[in-house]
Amino acid sequence: MRIFRKIRVKARSQCATSVLVAVLSSFMLTSLVHAGQAHEHGVVTLDAVVEEKLLDVMLITPAVNVVGFEHAAETEAQKAEVIQAINSLKQGYQIIQLPRAALCLLKEADVIQSLLESQHEHEHEEEHGHADIRVHYQFVCAKPEQLTEIAVGLFDQFSMVESVRYQVVSPAGQKGGTLFSSRDEILIRQ
Ligand SMILES: [Zn+2]
Repeated sequence: MRIFRKIRVKARSQCATSVLVAVLSSFMLTSLVHAGQAHEHGVVTLDAVVEEKLLDVMLITPAVNVVGFEHAAETEAQKAEVIQAINSLKQGYQIIQLPRAALCLLKEADVIQSLLESQHEHEHEEEHGHADIRVHYQFVCAKPEQLTEIAVGLFDQFSMVESVRYQVVSPAGQKGGTLFSSRDEILIRQ
């Protein structure tokens, strides 16, 4: 818990300057932001691709957003917390809410994390003191033309998530932006 607090304090103090830098560079940074996968507490990145009947979504979140810490789970309580977060993230229909008319079926929900892995993996993570959790969802949609929007259900379930930076590529084009709890829908097409 002490490690977690230290990280939070550090993240807060860097906040004011990083907002300014983010505003200044937002014109230049588009897909590079996603490719770089900057680890920023409170922020989740979401990349979605619609191709024919398939919708692929990749979420990358600092572990602290969903479990409250980023070190390897040591106690039984911490292990239980990680398992609970994994189970919540696997509820694809709740995290990625799609229009009913698109008739989408969740085919895959894979959570890739290192908090429950072997000791060797732990040491690797602790070198930088931060850890990400990645989630990949794949939906198959019978009527992909009805995929007009994606509502993201992360804010309700994980109070540490402050914003979601997204990028969507679909037959309607490419778009990116930022979601907040007050505006949690990505509009794919009118
Ligand atoms: Zn971190």
